[in-house]
Amino acid sequence: MKAFYADEQKRHDPKAFLSSGSPKPNPEQPERVERLLAGARAAGCEIVRPGEHGLGPIAAVHTPEYLDFLERIYDRWQRIEGASQEVIPNIHPIARGGSYPASAVGQAGYHMADTSCPISAETWESSLWSAWSAVEAAEAVLSGEPAAYALCRPPGHHAFADVAGGFCFINNSAVAAQRLRSRAARVAILDVDLHHGNGTQGIFYARPDVLTVSIHADPIRFYPFFWGHADERGEGPGLGYNLNLPLERKSGDVEFLAALDKGLQRIRAFAPEVLVVALGLDAFEGDPFGGLSVTTPGFARIAEAIARLRLPTVIVQEGGYLCDELSDNLTSFLTGFGAR
Ligand SMILES: [Zn+2]
Repeated sequence: MKAFYADEQKRHDPKAFLSSGSPKPNPEQPERVERLLAGARAAGCEIVRPGEHGLGPIAAVHTPEYLDFLERIYDRWQRIEGASQEVIPNIHPIARGGSYPASAVGQAGYHMADTSCPISAETWESSLWSAWSAVEAAEAVLSGEPAAYALCRPPGHHAFADVAGGFCFINNSAVAAQRLRSRAARVAILDVDLHHGNGTQGIFYARPDVLTVSIHADPIRFYPFFWGHADERGEGPGLGYNLNLPLERKSGDVEFLAALDKGLQRIRAFAPEVLVVALGLDAFEGDPFGGLSVTTPGFARIAEAIARLRLPTVIVQEGGYLCDELSDNLTSFLTGFGAR
């Protein structure tokens, strides 16, 4: 299987992070890339640098207002006297009306859901290349490869059409799915990250052409709190095209695989032509976030079950944080999926 990745994706190096109000080192570290590359190589992947794809495939799922903000906000922020080095919002709208703030501070609050996605000088370029890795993996599958892996970093599934959040800026899984829609009538996205894929859900919430399924720690007591509940089923023409499968905290392989069965059943009934897997490895029992208890061999079993759909598949990296087993967990998933 080809694994798409560009070194520019490593430049984004966020510092700030608030955990229960306390400043901590940001967990979305560039070192994740080294571990994931090692894991992909151990699974037999060939690492391939993606080409540049411009803004087109990204603008297909994000608003121009938001992309303009992401591209320019760092430079604008530097002109504010006494401002922080990284762009971090300190005010958010409770509800978003028709007006749009002109100030950098107001726009940061408008376009950033939380404080875990600080924007630095390198964020925009790293995010572009991360998205292009997803585009290239989608292109590989459209050209007949049975599967491709996009080593996307920064991750993407918490990014809405016009909001960053949870370490995410551009929604790489959504970019891949929309690219696949150019030649597939129906695309399914299966998100197995520890956290609910709220941005992905939001982007496709009113659409019947992209089915979104997410398995995650129950948001009643876990990030992202305001999304990911079982009663969120889609809206308008998209009603019935979103499935959330929240799990109790510390659920292990057995519970995860049971939820996965339900998700796969829904995907089969949707009869998609192609699948995107939003692959978070943070459901691991030893991940620093500690929300679920999937084991290293458990990732292989999850991948085997997904592979039995026998669909052309784009695997997009989402979360999974620094722990000794991060490489092994990726190798386990990719090996379980089968290079085919
Ligand atoms: Zn996550």
